Amino acid sequence: QGPGAMKFQRQHMDSNGNPQPNSNYCDQMMKKRKMTEGACKPVNTFVHEPLKDVEAICIQPNIRCKNGQNNCHQSRSSMRVTDCRLTNGSRYPNCKYRTSPTKRQITVACVGNPYVPVHLDA
Ligand code: ADP
Repeated sequence: QGPGAMKFQRQHMDSNGNPQPNSNYCDQMMKKRKMTEGACKPVNTFVHEPLKDVEAICIQPNIRCKNGQNNCHQSRSSMRVTDCRLTNGSRYPNCKYRTSPTKRQITVACVGNPYVPVHLDA
């Protein structure tokens, strides 16, 4: 497993997490997954689906990513996710997040061989 794939799993995968998390979820998870070190990562999404289902998004057709590359792929079905957004007025090192569970199709960027997710585009 390459470093990009491992970072993706650290930042975005919470397969066994409750898809209806409590309001502290993002404060705890953003810290636990090391996205509050040096700075508060402003926005991040966790996916509550099996890793194999998220990896399988890479076999969907290529689409354009926000950065203009074409290695993005959108899930066919909607997935259970939790969006974490830094609250206004939150100041490092006190990273405070709004926790918003939802269901939607997600878009990932994939690279490598094996061709696996390394970035969550949307
Ligand atoms: P995320 O964007 O999922 O929050 P990071 O920005 O920390 O995570 O890391 C994304 C990684 O994915 C970077 O190493 C970046 O080079 C890589 N990457 C590969 N393809 C793309 C793409 N199309 N768009 C953005 N990042 C990409």
